[in-house]
Amino acid sequence: MAPAMTDERADRRDELAANLDAVHERVRTACTAAGRDPEGITTIVVTKTFPASDVRLLAGLGVTEVAEAREPEASEKVQQCRDLPVRWHCVGRVQRNKARAVAGWADVVHSVDSARLATALSRGAEYHGRGIDVLVQISLDGDPARGGASADDVPALADAVQDLPGLRLAGVMAVAPLGVDPRTAFGTLREIADRLRAGHPGADVVSAGMSADLEAALASGATHLRVGSAILGTRPPLQ
Ligand SMILES: *Cc1c(COP(=O)(O)O)cnc(C)c1O
Repeated sequence: MAPAMTDERADRRDELAANLDAVHERVRTACTAAGRDPEGITTIVVTKTFPASDVRLLAGLGVTEVAEAREPEASEKVQQCRDLPVRWHCVGRVQRNKARAVAGWADVVHSVDSARLATALSRGAEYHGRGIDVLVQISLDGDPARGGASADDVPALADAVQDLPGLRLAGVMAVAPLGVDPRTAFGTLREIADRLRAGHPGADVVSAGMSADLEAALASGATHLRVGSAILGTRPPLQ
């Protein structure tokens, strides 16, 4: 039998369970409003800044999709959670010199915005003998400093990813820009996703929507949500 949980762990488990229920309810309500089937939506839980013990509790609550954002935190946490049946997503910006490390643990990388990064990830995937699903991250505000390829660059980048060993082109990802109605931004993303899928039928993932804007994302065709604070609580500010 598993050892008994401390009261603190049991309290945290209950808190995570209640937050997961609330998010699933939001997803159901938004899908109903959009005439979509909630079974087709994948909620990825973003655990960055939270401890491996939270990933363990989430897995115990049935969570199977977990995201991390930064090295070396991600590699360390994945290592501590190797026994858990979860799929790992990388949603943060990947520096090229970290690509090999990320390729060692990520099943899906959401943040590929250049052919140079795709090439580095492909080399990393081959080094580790792994296959990685890749989403092309799209900049919806035209500010490349925040990451993401411009819409014009998507076709060439998608072809590059498709041709690289160890990578599979799986779809697109975006973060809604600040100060813009997320419905407008996600509507643009949907158009880009539709164009990509016309040439690459297997690239059917649309990763959009976070704690604050998942309803807008679901209204615009998101298939994968990336939810952190609504499930785990407020993160400490980035240093
Ligand atoms: C942190 C992060 C999230 C989760 O954000 P919340 O607002 O906490 O839900 C989603 N996507 C990306 C790219 C992130 O870095």
